[in-house]
Amino acid sequence: MLRISVEEFSIWKKKQLSKGGDQQSFAVLLDCIGGISTSDLQLISINPEGNLHLKQDLEFLESIWNEHLLKSCPIQYLCGITFWRDLKLKVSNKVLIPRPETELIIDIVCNLFKKKSDKLIFAELGTGSGAISIALALAYPFSEGVATDIDQDALEIATKNYLNSSKQSNLKFYCGNWWSPLESFKGKLDLAISNPPYIPKDTYEKLPKEVKNFEPKVALFGGEDGLKHIREIIQKAPLFLKEKGWLILENHFDQGETVKQLLIKNKFTSIEIVNDLSGIGRFTIGKI
Ligand code: GLN
Repeated sequence: MLRISVEEFSIWKKKQLSKGGDQQSFAVLLDCIGGISTSDLQLISINPEGNLHLKQDLEFLESIWNEHLLKSCPIQYLCGITFWRDLKLKVSNKVLIPRPETELIIDIVCNLFKKKSDKLIFAELGTGSGAISIALALAYPFSEGVATDIDQDALEIATKNYLNSSKQSNLKFYCGNWWSPLESFKGKLDLAISNPPYIPKDTYEKLPKEVKNFEPKVALFGGEDGLKHIREIIQKAPLFLKEKGWLILENHFDQGETVKQLLIKNKFTSIEIVNDLSGIGRFTIGKI
């Protein structure tokens, strides 16, 4: 631990932020590498005369910040860590950095399945870092969850994240494309969830470089109209869900109505487009 005065730290922090970047990314750097959490930062403003304890020196932190600004590489990849809900998750460029708007998926599930003691059987298709499945496995300790991904490297990260976040053993990981690793769950799922790649071709080409140059295309690109994977997931979902089982999908800001029509076509009922915190129809849900 390195001791540094709040005054010196504040001057340094101001200098770093004046070079560019945003407060949130800087907070991730300070927390993950510097060992200074957001609540530590709040204490600083109350006690400007005091001292701080850093895990790494300012020079090292500055070198990472400079690399982030120079290459537009997401700070989460440079730190190898991100925060999502109450989880601290490992990330690498093999997995999408879980987005804050996706956090709401857990609240949607909690609204549908009110009893935390429920013995839910759930599957997540395309788990990436494992964020959604891990949060669900923790929220429903008696559930049995399966999380799939087409990429073995992603599954290794997800498995590590599960082991780091939990002492439970109610979540398993399988490698494969969408429903294909889930043959043995046919007709058994209470719930299936996916935040699949849904970015349409034109939009993908124009994504900001911090996304396009660093995050895995396989986790973002949804074909010509963005709906290639969503279509496949919806079409096969009725085979895997049990009667009254729910499908919850995340979609692009303007896909809600089309996804709703796809669900209707595939005999889903109780269909709803759920807004994210910015008022965007980000999730579409239906019951079979
Ligand atoms: N929400 C992500 C983004 O805007 C996309 C995630 C996805 O395709 N599933 O970058």
